[in-house]
Amino acid sequence: MTKRKLIILSHDAMVREDVLARIDSPAFSYLLESGTWIETTKTIWPSITYPAHSSIISGRYPDRHGVFHNDHFYPGDPDPRWNWDAKYFHGDSLFQAAKRAGLTTAGVFWPVSGNHPYVDYLISEYWPQSPDESFIDCQRSMGTSEEVIRDIIEPNLPENEQFVRMHPDADQFVIDCACSMIRKYRPDLLVIHPADIDANRHRNGVFSDPVREAVRRAAKWTQQIITATRDAGTFADTVFVVMSDHGQVDLDRIMSPNVFFCRKGLLSVNEDGSFGDWTCYLRSTGITAEVYVEGADDTTFAGRARYAANLRKTRAALEELKDDPRFAIDRILTSREAEEELRLSGPFSFFLIGKGNVAYSNILKGGLEMQFDTSAFQTAFATHGMDPDFGPQPTAIFSGPGVRRGLRIPRRPIVDIAPTCAKLLGLDLPDTDGTAVDELIEPEDENPPYRIYGVTGRSGSGKSRFAKVLAEKLGCERIDIDEIGHDATKDPAVIEKIRRLYGDGVLGADGTIDRKAVGRIVFESAERMGEYTTITWAYMQRVLSEILARTKGPIVFEWILLPISGTFWNRANPKILVTADTEARKKAVLERDGITGDYFDQRDGGSLDYGRYDFDAVVENDYRPETLEEAADRILTAFSPF
Ligand SMILES: [Zn+2]
Repeated sequence: MTKRKLIILSHDAMVREDVLARIDSPAFSYLLESGTWIETTKTIWPSITYPAHSSIISGRYPDRHGVFHNDHFYPGDPDPRWNWDAKYFHGDSLFQAAKRAGLTTAGVFWPVSGNHPYVDYLISEYWPQSPDESFIDCQRSMGTSEEVIRDIIEPNLPENEQFVRMHPDADQFVIDCACSMIRKYRPDLLVIHPADIDANRHRNGVFSDPVREAVRRAAKWTQQIITATRDAGTFADTVFVVMSDHGQVDLDRIMSPNVFFCRKGLLSVNEDGSFGDWTCYLRSTGITAEVYVEGADDTTFAGRARYAANLRKTRAALEELKDDPRFAIDRILTSREAEEELRLSGPFSFFLIGKGNVAYSNILKGGLEMQFDTSAFQTAFATHGMDPDFGPQPTAIFSGPGVRRGLRIPRRPIVDIAPTCAKLLGLDLPDTDGTAVDELIEPEDENPPYRIYGVTGRSGSGKSRFAKVLAEKLGCERIDIDEIGHDATKDPAVIEKIRRLYGDGVLGADGTIDRKAVGRIVFESAERMGEYTTITWAYMQRVLSEILARTKGPIVFEWILLPISGTFWNRANPKILVTADTEARKKAVLERDGITGDYFDQRDGGSLDYGRYDFDAVVENDYRPETLEEAADRILTAFSPF
């Protein structure tokens, strides 16, 4: 197996409907056609970002990885710090598994990754804690290396230092940094977490115009990541996992149970926000909530008795809240019930589950019902934290080497993502709660050796002639992949995708693609070129798969566009390079194509460096017919299919 790489791109709060809305975007249409779509994933309790991402990376539930909330809290703390630091995460994950296997790891804004000892190239999700702290200083304090600061952060840092708490500025920075890491370090495992869709849903509602714009940006960013792997020469080896952590639902109202506790005399607050005497305190996870009861950690005999009394008082207050329909409480679970039923544990004593469209605030003062407030995720116009089966669902697309093409799977638990990634990378990640999604993994023995003979070489090297000789000796078909690339521009589905992206101006009078008009557009920017290549490559992959499905014996594939044809190139065994002296090639091309020597030099100078690829055999062509005959015999002896 070729050494694979894997990128998890987690678009926070993206849902299945978003993928459908942008299904024609170059990136999503490519990923869906070339890969497997797990249309919905069942996230974890509570369905909020830090616990969910900890489950995505570990394949385990919060009762085992220990991240049960976004922030790190003790009762009475008016301004808790978030669980930015990896020390709050317990146990094994894909990061450790990758390092055990000697792979390189990278993360950009992945939650709970600060100071992570197993992430080589790290920019964790963290932001300055005071106006005096610069972004670079804050990242340095979370374990980002000077190398990453110099190579990745500094060249991409926006002028406005406030960018990190703004969307989409922060997310564009995240994507730019991830692309730089791909090009510079080519990490084996890279995890990325933009949060633009999530932020826009909170502020504007689940399905709103700003959210549609955010989804459009997410598709564009996904394309940017794919393009970066092409630039790095790692596209062919890379498994893309484009996914999300939870959905969101629109809210009817926000209720404040702590105000009720204050009125009942169960909670009192000092001027500075710290607690005075308290019996219970509710800490919101959006549409669900943890309820803390005073004395839970007091193990003395008197302490146990006091805690039991506090529990009874709290239970009675919660039952009273449950009777008030405005609070929309569906269930009150004890901490033991939460652990057994929801796989959620923490130092809280009760866990409240709301009915779905009412969220809970943490606030201590004011009325029982509060105005929407977008400064906290719990109290915005839309939020999450709800039952993982409720509302629009998160989603996951897998594409790349080893992933089945065009498969759709309706639903899988989100804890299955990590074991699946581990299996695709050949990593050992034992003792997960989830299991690998085996049906999306292509069995290795589908491509036995000496089935796909891959032939490549520079212009004029004689690779076509050699491929023909080889195919004749094998008695099999010879497929020119460059020709399939040309056919792509005549395919109605490809034409329609390109027309939608670039307008009617790219079509000729006969309704087919005007290659010159498209050329003018795509050569103007790397982004455009990336989109165009992704669209045509989706077509080429489909045709190549169909050819492989209908042929049984050996087949000779001839490549010219080596890096973009990668996924199939990787399956070729043997891989054969045809080379020839530059002057001889030039003479051959000038005779064949009737071009000038200058034009050849220009074209040849810009073409690929084959040096970075491994070949099983090299054919040195001197343009005598018997040379290619002999080389073919030699290769068929060494790599015999018979
Ligand atoms: Zn999230």
